[in-house]
Amino acid sequence: MKVLVIGANGQVGKHLVAKIQDTSDIKAKAMIRKEEQVPYFEDLGAETVLTDLEKADIDEIAKAAEGTDAIVFTAGSGPKTGDDKTMLIDLDAAVKTIEAAKKAGVKRYIMVSSFDTTREEIQSVPSSFAPYVVAKHYADVWLRATDLDYTIVHPGGLTNDAATGKVQAAENVGRGEIPREDVASVLLATLQNDSTIGKEFQVVGGETTVDDAVKAL
Ligand code: NAP
Repeated sequence: MKVLVIGANGQVGKHLVAKIQDTSDIKAKAMIRKEEQVPYFEDLGAETVLTDLEKADIDEIAKAAEGTDAIVFTAGSGPKTGDDKTMLIDLDAAVKTIEAAKKAGVKRYIMVSSFDTTREEIQSVPSSFAPYVVAKHYADVWLRATDLDYTIVHPGGLTNDAATGKVQAAENVGRGEIPREDVASVLLATLQNDSTIGKEFQVVGGETTVDDAVKAL
């Protein structure tokens, strides 16, 4: 299986590509936006494709997705940019990649969403945070409306703590944090378990091994 990792140079993305390359049967194609980001992925033996998600149209992304079997979207504009970039990346780029998956015939699509993307959450978060939740909300809505084999992963607050390999995952779990490396393990386990198709789940640090938690969903 070949997986297009969108946002591969991100903190979750880098862990995910490394974990994919460690498997014997899955290979990663890292979608990144800068030439200087290439060597990290070459060292891992991963293919790369240079794409600026803001400028790229659906055709360009579909071309990058051709020949892959699955897409993981883990890009994000980050907290340091304005609401304009939130709309352009967290919403519009996410939707473009979903449409590109359809166009390229890549059925499997895994979305890294945020913890709570419900309408209630949009109404209750501070107004400065609302555009991000709005963007994630509508990207999820768009994906659910497709006939793609999707999974939507809703991680809790991301940390750079060392991986524990243990999580709590279910449709609804209490708020909590999770190391980015554990999110990457959850994404890999999601790719490896087709039982997650058509499901979405929240995930935070916990007591269950990643594999067991994902298989139990
Ligand atoms: P991150 O480190 O900020 O990585 C985001 C990636 O998106 C970066 O590699 C960045 O590229 C890429 N990107 C941004 N704009 C781009 C563009 N125009 N073209 C191409 N690539 C672009 O994010 P993370 O911490 O790994 O988080 C991964 C995901 O989890 C995000 O979707 C985030 O919204 C979501 N999430 C976050 C939290 C949290 O607590 N922070 C909680 C739940 C979910 P560069 O490397 O080139 O900058």
